Amino acid sequence: MRISELTSRAFSSLREASPVALLPIGTVEAHGMHAPLGTDIVIPVEIGRRVERADPKRFLLLPEIPYGHSWDLAPFAGTVDIPARPFLRYVSAVAVALVRAGLPRQIWLNGHGGNNGALTLAAEEAAEVGAAVVIVHWWMDFRREIDAIIEGAGHAGADETAAVMAIDPNWVHLEDTPDQTPPRLARLTYKELAGRESRFPGAVNGQPRHATPEKGEALLDMCARRVQEIAAESFPA
Ligand SMILES: [Zn+2]
Repeated sequence: MRISELTSRAFSSLREASPVALLPIGTVEAHGMHAPLGTDIVIPVEIGRRVERADPKRFLLLPEIPYGHSWDLAPFAGTVDIPARPFLRYVSAVAVALVRAGLPRQIWLNGHGGNNGALTLAAEEAAEVGAAVVIVHWWMDFRREIDAIIEGAGHAGADETAAVMAIDPNWVHLEDTPDQTPPRLARLTYKELAGRESRFPGAVNGQPRHATPEKGEALLDMCARRVQEIAAESFPA
């Protein structure tokens, strides 16, 4: 079910069954010149919709948090960068409010790497008051499965671009991306704070031209299936 469509009474009876709440979190950020600014939020929202549709009684889809922390890509047009501390505080407050509303079982579907640090801290805070949070970073956690479906993953790379094409091909303009783009950054595990403009030349890495709607469909399906498996492990019915 989707919480926005439920009445208070309907929510109260659904809550008895301890549903797993799905909270998509993203950002508004430059994704090359070919993919939409909402790439990092429309993808986790779509994954959430697919998971919810697969088992509407078990999963409760929540409205998304669309604004995130985008320090790295802040110099590029269209990026809306929320500083890390207020973002952390807000996500933590939402998670705690969900626990109070009777939804301690939460899967956060994150679509944006710049959010990762703040989300870990927010989840720890929420855990202190009884939340059981699983954070899914689809492009990292399912990297092996992604590489089996498509080559050239990266920021605004083939994986993200294909997923957006599967959602709405009109939002992607592959003709506006150069033939050659830098490969995905190998060192994703630590922050290189100097020279952020040169780390993402043109706000893209990977190979967006490998993207097709069919591969995007396969990616989204795989992600939804993997999230269901994670839910089955973390929150046995
Ligand atoms: Zn992205």
